[in-house]
Amino acid sequence: MESALTARDRVGVQDFVLLENHTSEAAFIENLRKRFKENLIYTYIGSVLVSVNPYKDLEIYTKNHMERYRGINFYEVSPHIYAVSDNSYRSMRTERKDQCILISGESGAGKTEASKKILQYYAVTCPASDQVETVKDRLLQSNPVLEVNTGGNTISSTGAPVGGHILNYLLEKSRVVHQNHGERNFHIFYQLIEGGEEDLLRRLGLERNPQQYQYLVKGNCPKVSSINDRSDWKVVRKALSVIGFSEDEVEELLNIIASVLHLGNIQYGGEDSGNAYITTDTQIKYLARLLGVDGLVLKEALTHKKIIAKGEELKSPLNLEQASSARDALSKAVYGRTFTWLVNKINVSLAYKDETYKNASVIGLLDIYGFEVFQHNSFEQFCINYCNEKLQQLFIELTLKSEQDEYEAEGITWEPVQYFNNKIICDLVEEKFKGIISILDEECLRPGDASDITFLEKLENTVGGHAHLTTHKLTDGKTRKVMGREEFRLLHYAGEVNYNVNGFLDKNNDLLFRNLKEVMCMSDNKILTQCFDRAELKDSRRPETAATQFKTSLAKLMEILMSKEPSYVRCIKPNDAKQAGRFDEVLIRHQVKYLGLMENLRVRRAGFAYRRHYETFLQRYKSLCPETWPSWQGKLADGVSTLVKHLGYKPEEYKLGRSKIFIRFPKTLFATEDALETRKHSLGERESHVSHAVVVQAWWKGILACRRARRRREAANTIRRFIKGFIYRHNERCPENEYFLDYVRYSFLMKLRRNLPKTVLDKSWPTPPTALIEASERLRKLYMQNMVWGYCKKINPEWKHQLEQKMVASEIFKNKKDNYPQSVPKLFVGTRLKEINPKVLQSLGSEKMKYAVPVTKYDRKGYKARPRQLLLTSNSAVIVEEAKLKQRIDYAALKGISVSSLSDGVFVLHVPTEDKKQKGDVVLQSDHIIETLTKVAICADKVNSININQGSITFTMGQGREGIIDFTSGSELLVAKAKNGHLSVTAPRLNSR
Ligand code: ADP
Repeated sequence: MESALTARDRVGVQDFVLLENHTSEAAFIENLRKRFKENLIYTYIGSVLVSVNPYKDLEIYTKNHMERYRGINFYEVSPHIYAVSDNSYRSMRTERKDQCILISGESGAGKTEASKKILQYYAVTCPASDQVETVKDRLLQSNPVLEVNTGGNTISSTGAPVGGHILNYLLEKSRVVHQNHGERNFHIFYQLIEGGEEDLLRRLGLERNPQQYQYLVKGNCPKVSSINDRSDWKVVRKALSVIGFSEDEVEELLNIIASVLHLGNIQYGGEDSGNAYITTDTQIKYLARLLGVDGLVLKEALTHKKIIAKGEELKSPLNLEQASSARDALSKAVYGRTFTWLVNKINVSLAYKDETYKNASVIGLLDIYGFEVFQHNSFEQFCINYCNEKLQQLFIELTLKSEQDEYEAEGITWEPVQYFNNKIICDLVEEKFKGIISILDEECLRPGDASDITFLEKLENTVGGHAHLTTHKLTDGKTRKVMGREEFRLLHYAGEVNYNVNGFLDKNNDLLFRNLKEVMCMSDNKILTQCFDRAELKDSRRPETAATQFKTSLAKLMEILMSKEPSYVRCIKPNDAKQAGRFDEVLIRHQVKYLGLMENLRVRRAGFAYRRHYETFLQRYKSLCPETWPSWQGKLADGVSTLVKHLGYKPEEYKLGRSKIFIRFPKTLFATEDALETRKHSLGERESHVSHAVVVQAWWKGILACRRARRRREAANTIRRFIKGFIYRHNERCPENEYFLDYVRYSFLMKLRRNLPKTVLDKSWPTPPTALIEASERLRKLYMQNMVWGYCKKINPEWKHQLEQKMVASEIFKNKKDNYPQSVPKLFVGTRLKEINPKVLQSLGSEKMKYAVPVTKYDRKGYKARPRQLLLTSNSAVIVEEAKLKQRIDYAALKGISVSSLSDGVFVLHVPTEDKKQKGDVVLQSDHIIETLTKVAICADKVNSININQGSITFTMGQGREGIIDFTSGSELLVAKAKNGHLSVTAPRLNSR
């Protein structure tokens, strides 16, 4: 425990006695949860081990782990099932006293697994002769054979590793003939049917189908997905031979098991009031053979009872109901007694044959179902809960006793502990004549018409006034609403449970008619004759009921436990889905309650939470006091006294016994632990008894802690300077803001570096802090110049030419013609024609071609549109129709160019009227108007002669006549002759406008 004291925040406390708020169930569960999340499934309550089923394989059961727990002090290492195992083993060896480990919990909580782990621990770590090896082997094998748990309500027991002894207490016999919904009968029946070899089944007269057997269909649950009956059958068969059963014995055993199934299928005819007779002869045939009895005699015994009146034997026929009861009673008796025989047989197999070991001490392993509270609780729950009530009583008594003994041994005054003494409930169940069991037996055995209901009435009349019992009739209001008419309620230590009396009498009645016993005594089956002793027939004592048998067995168990100093393992199931990592709080709270864990803790914590031998305590904490560090020379008790005084323990917080210090509250211990932790860092090393590895680890941890502390200090300083600088940021540079201003500058420059404009067109620039406005502006200019210079340097001649043309276009058209903006991103090209007719090229001779574009020419008369090509050479603009040169306009003769301000592509090339060669101005249309006119302007050097007109253009048509082009905006381009004789051009409106 000491090792993990320091980790308590993350993993909680590893002993619940150190829980500060020890009466809080929420704190208890939170501690379980914290640990469970870290895969720490074990926690102590003093010497009790609480185990939460992880539903996954944890790497904590290796040989190394076993070694770690061997011979170690219970508190030195983290809680583990091996610590409990080792503790019991060592107590047995040193005190030469029998020990017992009592494991309890619900179905699925991990009881079987826990007992296996204990057995494995002993198998590996205990010194062993060959003989012991065989015993261990057999012990491990006896598990599947005695695996009688069927998800229901059995108390089963497993044995001890050395000269193991298996205790058999109660077998829930009623399950043989009846199962509640969802319950299975005992596994062996299904295993035999599913796994038995063909000829074995033939010999036994069985079919491979559980549905065929009345005793197997009641719970409607023959198959369970997690159970593989076929492979389990093999395990059982192998186990039987390992334990030492002969082939004959196995055969007899299987005959008995099969006969129970045949018995279940016996059917009766006859009226309820009349005499019953058997209608199924085949069953009798098989039964006669399997049980080794006379068929007729058996048939007779199953339908009649023998009464001895006045020394004379009388046979009286049974009615249908009685006959069915007799049949079921026989099945239960046969199975139950065989089970007991089997347990004894295993005990013998496990026992040392050697006389010298006769008086050897043993460790008993007992796993018992915990408290059961279902929707409907019957006789079985009544027995189980009674058993748990007794175990809790024993547990509290033993805990109190051991506490008291310890106080006494240490010379510390015992302060009485307030606890709930459940003797009153145990008495209510078991007291002679007045207890519930006595009342039940009385009803079963009395002549007359006794029934479950008359039993309930008798309860009401006899113990109706008891504070821990009530019934539907006796109670009122709220409680009555949640109780059935056939229920009685017991107020157990763990809470209220309602029991339905239905079936109580039947289940308790274990009465077997004399003539059936006689038949069994005469059997050829040796096992049966051992189970049914002839001497029993002569015994005229009142037969024992199931509850009384249970009570007797329990009393015997308590006696044994008392003498064996039991250790406890309390198993908890974290969820119903068998899922790893799932912690279902409601389910767990329920178990904590019904396992009585809070009460356990309360009793254990009533006095002092923590106690340790002086030596251990001093060794751990001596560094906290100058007088005890590095070593204390005087008496240990004085050393501890000096130490705790130095630590400022108040008198009510602790007591000093003969050899131990007792500390009342966990918080006192934790404060000391915290002080030790701090001290360790400054010390840089730990006490000398700790192993070297731990010393190195602590030293290294110390160094790491120093580094961490230094880094933290520096960080705090930086933050402080920063805040101050921020406050003084508008002041002149001074020591207070120096750091801050430098930081701001630095960070602006770093930011600038990351966000510099990427192109000459990108105008973004990070906003500078006030102190850097001027510098930032200078930097920006420098940077832009630099970028432009770099850009220009990179430009090639072609691109330069393109840009020059674009500059010209911009000069002429920017903000003047509507479709100029659309032209900007489009590159100007040298030709828009796929090809120029070779004849044309030929006639142009050596003139250099500068530009070529398809155009539409409008006739001067009638404005008919004609496709043409416009070629620009070094000297003139040429209009071409396929192979013909239609018109040539020398640049020198080009008077001007007109174009509209709209988005159309119509333009006019003006030529001098006096030129006889020319037929007048030319009206053309280009789809690349900006490009075309820019080219014309450049080639003809007419940049300043382009007129951009609003509304209309006037042009000459030759012979002194004039034409007019009217421009308007519309939805689409339309060029046509208007009624007024003008050429009308409708230019599409552009979105950008
Ligand atoms: P019980 O005997 O209480 O009914 P089991 O011991 O059979 O419960 O446990 C049910 C299942 O839970 C086991 O089959 C196993 O898968 C799992 N289990 C129980 N204890 C452990 C454990 N300590 N580690 C891993 N799995 C466990």
